[in-house]
Amino acid sequence: MPGRIRQEDVEQVRERSDLTKVVSGYLQLKKTGRDSLSGLCPFHPEKTPSFSVSPTKQVYYCFGCGEGGNVFRFLEKIENLSFPETVERLAKETGVTLRYEGESDASRRSADRREVLHRANAEAARLYHRMLTEGREAGAARAYLDERGIEERSVERFAVGFAPTYPDYLLRRLSKTYSPEVLVEAGLATRDDRGNLRDRFRGRVMFPIHDRAGKSVGFGARHLAAPGKPAPEGAKYLNTAESPVYRKSSLLYNLNRAKAEITRTGRAFVVEGYTDVIALDQAGIGSVVATCGTALGEDHLRLLSLFTDRLVLAFDSDAAGVRAAERAYGFHQQYPVDLFVLILPEGLDPADFVLAHRNDGDREFEALAGNAIPLVEYMIRRAFADRLLADVEERSRAVRAGLEIVVSLEDPVRRESYARLVASMAGEREHAVMLELQRMAEPLDARPGAAARDGAAARSRPGAGSRMPPQQRVERESLRLLVQTPDICPVTAGELDPERFGTPSYRKIFEFLRDASPHAEALGPSPNGGGPSADAGLGVAASPRSNGDARRTGATAGPAGPSAGTLVSLAQERGEQLGRLVAALAVEPTESDGEPTGEYAAAVFDRLEEFHLGRQIDELRRELERLNPQKEPRYEELFGRMVALLGRRRRLMEEGGEGRSS
Ligand SMILES: [Zn+2]
Repeated sequence: MPGRIRQEDVEQVRERSDLTKVVSGYLQLKKTGRDSLSGLCPFHPEKTPSFSVSPTKQVYYCFGCGEGGNVFRFLEKIENLSFPETVERLAKETGVTLRYEGESDASRRSADRREVLHRANAEAARLYHRMLTEGREAGAARAYLDERGIEERSVERFAVGFAPTYPDYLLRRLSKTYSPEVLVEAGLATRDDRGNLRDRFRGRVMFPIHDRAGKSVGFGARHLAAPGKPAPEGAKYLNTAESPVYRKSSLLYNLNRAKAEITRTGRAFVVEGYTDVIALDQAGIGSVVATCGTALGEDHLRLLSLFTDRLVLAFDSDAAGVRAAERAYGFHQQYPVDLFVLILPEGLDPADFVLAHRNDGDREFEALAGNAIPLVEYMIRRAFADRLLADVEERSRAVRAGLEIVVSLEDPVRRESYARLVASMAGEREHAVMLELQRMAEPLDARPGAAARDGAAARSRPGAGSRMPPQQRVERESLRLLVQTPDICPVTAGELDPERFGTPSYRKIFEFLRDASPHAEALGPSPNGGGPSADAGLGVAASPRSNGDARRTGATAGPAGPSAGTLVSLAQERGEQLGRLVAALAVEPTESDGEPTGEYAAAVFDRLEEFHLGRQIDELRRELERLNPQKEPRYEELFGRMVALLGRRRRLMEEGGEGRSS
């Protein structure tokens, strides 16, 4: 792939960069341990520091919000850069001269390539707009906009356009300036079955989409029905395909224009359609955005939280509202924003609504927005809807459904006040509802990391997560030891059976560690990075998230396996989630008193085996219960196996007991 930064150079930049120094440019770090510095997390609001940096491992992790990784990840996040941009920035600071694979032509470098894509999209937008306002073919498009109540000034302001039905309107005009590759990459042209180039958008009203800085990145395009025919429902909207500049998960239509108004009013509306945005803007409500061909996701929330802490999700029906609310509920607590849900009356969408109140649409909409319901309350009310509360059983089911929403709230104050709402809606005594909530909360409080949520608590209690069930605790501790101090572990990850880990997420992490272990296979970094091969081992663990990203890290594995820092880098390449989890394992203190010793590690791995044996014994026992000892010849054999396992477990426990008492 042309333009990719050479892997050795990426490595060199990483080795020469100092995470502590880079982080210190953004927040104040204080020494809090032999190998740890702490400060206030730049990625979530907090008053006590939970953001931790390990200078020797060159890894950071936030016990508050779970963000973590290496120096590249930190800069990418905080400066909102792409991976190559991050490497380029650090290369400049550390004096590494970067070399690019493939074409050496500097004009192919990523920043320039993005620039070309922006220019091509901007030019296409101008051509589509001209077609809409002047073209003879655009009569139906103008009629559609008219019917939606979109005035000329809005057509200008939003640069709405029209793509005519013939296949080379853009191609004929842009192919003199741009190569076919660029037009395809920009999402403006596609190749048909026979390899012929043609316009991607045909017979559609075009809504140009910009990034938050106002650069053209693509289009949302609405199909126009041929006269007398209804538009095909499924294909009503077509958006630009993912490209280096069009990432739908982090794009919001109109954010470039709306951000000032959002900051000023302290509130943002999120609606579903481009015409809703335009109609509201036209009515005088400028703080409106829409997602671009995808549901509201985490990155959208992160982006909006830069401008406001109050979001109103506006929907034309409960069905749409519930879907979006449920999704947003899953991740809203990670971001410092309050979410509200607004269901418009009688299935009107926001554009219909302001049109119906032509003269004072803005005031009417504002008044309606004042009645928007907090997300959690909305979900609770939905849980109670259509239930016969006079019936005791039905009422108790409603309470449980309501509390299921409440129980996963992390803030105890919110938990309590919403539990009160559940009580009042059900007409039950608060005390009884609180007791039920407590009962439901217990298993949840044992989830991994729950104890570590609060930074202060995490540090006052070395061995974060000590409220986890014992088995999970031991599994997590084993993983910490494998990541932080593989040299004192009695086994290497390559020698250990994944079955030892009963918790699915931990087993996954373990399998990653095993693949990265030098004992797994004769891996070793291949001399020049090699190609992305099927077996993701050390030198080939590459899975570039997006094309062109130089996300590959050849690891330098010593006899004891890759260092914690290298593991985090490798994990990051496999995905955000895994990267964070491995960063957590690298930075979390172990549960030992003081530095973990070989003896300590041996005891932890014995406990791990104990739990594994326990699971096998339980399984055998269940199987034996089903068998008839007289008739099944297998009974004898299985019974013998169980006795052997029981013996092994007893010996392990006795040894462990001696070790612990001496
Ligand atoms: Zn944080």
